[in-house]
Amino acid sequence: MSNTVLTVTKEIINKMMEHYKSAITNQNPPGSVFVAKPHGCTITAYKSGKVLFQGNGASMEAAKWGANANAHSQSGTLKTSATKKKSVAANSGNYAPPPTIGQLSIIGSDEVGTGDYFGPITVTAAYVSNDKIELLKELGVKDSKDLNDTQITKIAEQIIPIIPHSLLILRNEKYNELEQSGMNQGKLKAMLHNQAVSKVLTIVKSENKVDGILIDQFCQPEVFFNYLRDKSVPWKSSENIYFSTKAEGVHIAVAAASIIARYAFVKEFEKLSKMAGFELPKGAGPKVDQKAAEFIKKYGEASLTKVAKLHFANTDKAKHLIK
Ligand code: MN
Repeated sequence: MSNTVLTVTKEIINKMMEHYKSAITNQNPPGSVFVAKPHGCTITAYKSGKVLFQGNGASMEAAKWGANANAHSQSGTLKTSATKKKSVAANSGNYAPPPTIGQLSIIGSDEVGTGDYFGPITVTAAYVSNDKIELLKELGVKDSKDLNDTQITKIAEQIIPIIPHSLLILRNEKYNELEQSGMNQGKLKAMLHNQAVSKVLTIVKSENKVDGILIDQFCQPEVFFNYLRDKSVPWKSSENIYFSTKAEGVHIAVAAASIIARYAFVKEFEKLSKMAGFELPKGAGPKVDQKAAEFIKKYGEASLTKVAKLHFANTDKAKHLIK
């Protein structure tokens, strides 16, 4: 038994539908265009452009389209492997994104500010349908680590009106309150991702297809869901939940989410600097200790909760600098 997956254009799917019309069944799995059962093979074509050939005749049947698929689609890939599905599931867990994910319609989620002493945590989930992928690339969406704040602002202001998203800002005062009540940062992040993804799902669900949800991985998926064990996670039963580190490079939805989160973080950071009356530094290095000390001298230690993540070691270092 072998499986073959092709990624093809809409035109090829239409041609396939015509070619297999006498073998098309009335099965209609989620996201599919058609299921056909010619001799020795089951063919499932998906709206994403993915076509799955299963059965003894799979590779032979797929070969009819393989050349075409590559000729007609720049990103066309031909992957053949016997019982590939099983070995993938066993080796990399259930949350590894499929190789074709780059062309799917995905909700991506990412957070910013977790390593910065000053400033909030911002989390964004964004939905990018596969017909918007090229447009976002043209607008310059890519890994936010390769973009400066000016570029981020320009791109964010262009994409915010065109992609459904949810942006959450956890300001320092609330962050410190939750942290002091015993929540660790991992749990806080998991809660924010959950809220953002749930919100985007309610926005896009009815009119749009969602092929999957991709979270930029900051802990093992099992740990992530364990953090949320006492929360409602409406998307948890969804089949296509993926976790990946460096997910900004895995699907552009995460890159877009990251840009929006970074944009919000930068704007909040500017407000805090204005409030402080001097420029607050990013990160958590020695310069941060100095500026935290300056802030304490100017406003008193109690005010620090409005601008900083108090449990960072920087707090003690700053107090030490004052003595
Ligand atoms: Mn991230």
